[in-house]
Amino acid sequence: MIKLETELRNIKGINEKFLTKLDKLEIKTVRDLLWHFPFRYDDFSSVVKIADLKINQAATIRGVVKKISLRRSWRRKFVIIEVLVTDETGGIKAIWFNQPYIAKVLRAGIRVNFAGKVILSNEELVMQSPAYEPVTATTQTRHTAGLIPIYSETKGLTSKGFRFLISAILRAMESVKDFIPEEVLSSNEMPNIMTALRNIHFPLNMGQAERARERFAFADLFLLQLTNLKNRIALSREKAPPLVIDAVWTNEVISKLPFVLTEAQRRSLDEVLADLRKSQPMNRLLQGDVGSGKTVVAAIAGFAAAENGKQTAFMAPTEVLARQHYKTFAKIFKNMAIGTGILMGGETRAYYGDDLEAKVSRSKLLAEVESGKIKILIGTHALISGGKTRKPAQFKDLALAIVDEQHRFGVDQRAALVKQEKTPGEETTVHFLSMSATPIPRTLALTVFGDLDLSIIDELPVGRKQIITKIVSPANRQKAYDFIRQQVKAGRQVFVICPRIAAAEAEGEAVEDEPRDKRKDLWAEVKNVTEEYERLSKSVFPDLRIAMLHGKLKSTEKAKLMSDFSAGHTDILVSTSVIEVGVDVPNATIMMIEGADRFGLAQLYQFRGRVGRSDHQSYCLLFTDSTAETTQSRLNALLKAKNGFELAEQDLALRGPGEFIGDKQTGIPDLAMKSLNNMELVKAARDAAASIVKKDAELSGYPALRAQLASFQQQIHLE
Ligand code: ADP
Ligand code: MG
Repeated sequence: MIKLETELRNIKGINEKFLTKLDKLEIKTVRDLLWHFPFRYDDFSSVVKIADLKINQAATIRGVVKKISLRRSWRRKFVIIEVLVTDETGGIKAIWFNQPYIAKVLRAGIRVNFAGKVILSNEELVMQSPAYEPVTATTQTRHTAGLIPIYSETKGLTSKGFRFLISAILRAMESVKDFIPEEVLSSNEMPNIMTALRNIHFPLNMGQAERARERFAFADLFLLQLTNLKNRIALSREKAPPLVIDAVWTNEVISKLPFVLTEAQRRSLDEVLADLRKSQPMNRLLQGDVGSGKTVVAAIAGFAAAENGKQTAFMAPTEVLARQHYKTFAKIFKNMAIGTGILMGGETRAYYGDDLEAKVSRSKLLAEVESGKIKILIGTHALISGGKTRKPAQFKDLALAIVDEQHRFGVDQRAALVKQEKTPGEETTVHFLSMSATPIPRTLALTVFGDLDLSIIDELPVGRKQIITKIVSPANRQKAYDFIRQQVKAGRQVFVICPRIAAAEAEGEAVEDEPRDKRKDLWAEVKNVTEEYERLSKSVFPDLRIAMLHGKLKSTEKAKLMSDFSAGHTDILVSTSVIEVGVDVPNATIMMIEGADRFGLAQLYQFRGRVGRSDHQSYCLLFTDSTAETTQSRLNALLKAKNGFELAEQDLALRGPGEFIGDKQTGIPDLAMKSLNNMELVKAARDAAASIVKKDAELSGYPALRAQLASFQQQIHLE
């Protein structure tokens, strides 16, 4: 009997050529095939008498083949096949180009269904390239007379082929036990898995297809919520070192800051400190707009740990940012003698409340981390937490791990840090705080990062100037360049961001349905930024100092470029989106974005946040060639928005959740991703997961669900 796990190559009767092509689409098992859902349906459900056909109508006709003729086109380039079919009301011709094999399938005298569009050709109605299907009295039609599923195809593997194979397999396979508990299905009025599979491929009406699709999205959301809940429970059973945090001490530290904390910073800090007092590990996401001041909240948490004699690991996504954090820490706490070190590929430094720039050897720094003299160690994710090939730094007594711009800490990384513990049997889990400037709508954050607690900094420090944002049409490009020159002459600096051009576009060929080749993509991006750099430095601003930054550069080169820019040695930095996360160059006052329509609102918002960090007025110039109304209104939203969260909500509605959890492959199934803005469905999945876990946390009464959850967790790797 055919099961979901059955490999297609072990099923008799599937042609070898077909298998090779399926293989190309990564379709190897019955499950892969059945989960290759149609992306749309052609509606040929109305069966019409030939005499009633109208021009441009999409319909199915039933009749008898009267005559078949093959002829060459007048240029002899291709074969035209014409089939005359009649029913009791009249006759119509169907024509195909270059498909001579049709003459073998359709013989005069057989009964057929044709489904397609009726067009006018040489003054007569014809059906052009209709789907065809020989029928008998008992045929269950698959290609005509209904909603016809259309699949993403590859050469030689047509929708027709998919329909044929899928319907045969659905008929022959063993019924699948549903992993969603019966009670969940019935209380949510969801079809069971077999019905849903049948209905998503061969629906009788659109309602059936939609309910089936919803069920599959629900299934993934349900598993996602269960994963979150189980993670939460597991974490609450672990022990963490509770810290003693004294309000007098905290207030003193805060009063020594060179600025006053905002309400939102204060609130977030209190939430973090409350977590640190507990003997269960903190698992918190601190969200706040660019420039909202997350670092200081993190820093105070780190210093609270240091006050308790414990250590903190602070992990940044890039060396540039690690360096920036190191400086921020030093600046904020310059009067407090707390050993702080920075560990990077090319350099290691440490300071103890004195010389920030003092270099130490790598081995000395690591030794002082191990002896506990260094209380706060800053570096990149890989350097501190270790990776597949590297060992993590050895801490004497690590209590807190802070990660910047990485929504979730990898299970492996966490495990590597937990293993730090010296006394066996007394393992504790470190407290975790992750920080993100990506303003994820709260609802979405609760779904995807549902095992994290959330603190949100939703206000900027007072006195920040509004960034003047303008949409620049091609006609005003020169004016904008003049303005940029004038700003540079006044001593300011400029970012120019270039979009990624899809590899396909760059090479002028269409590769629809092919997975995007990441490497090609990166090169296309580099090519684009290189061209822009050349143009600006040769013809537009030959007199200015221009540099170029992109993902193909070595990290030491990037660091050098950034520090040159920071130091004011460069006027204009042309960059790909690598500039996106966190860089702080107060003297940069213009953010110019090429092809602004190619970026998501949330991302544009992030770019804009790179400027407006000083007393100088800052500007964001959005260049676009697109005059489409949707583009204009989308970009206009950026002009009006009060904060990133507001934009995030809009992006969620306009572009879907991919924008937030985005480029990085999360492993969250497609359908579930698309459904993340269906709040009702998300909520239903949350409730269902909560009620099951409440009843049976170990899922011992739900073996099928348990098994499915295990494989789901393997598949997703949230970061
Ligand atoms: P982000 O949240 O983007 O990481 P940072 O923590 O880098 O923001 O803070 C941006 C800048 O604002 C830093 O230079 C920091 O010192 C400063 N800053 C932080 N909090 C305040 C505040 N409450 N008032 C004034 N400036 C602040
Ligand atoms: Mg930051």
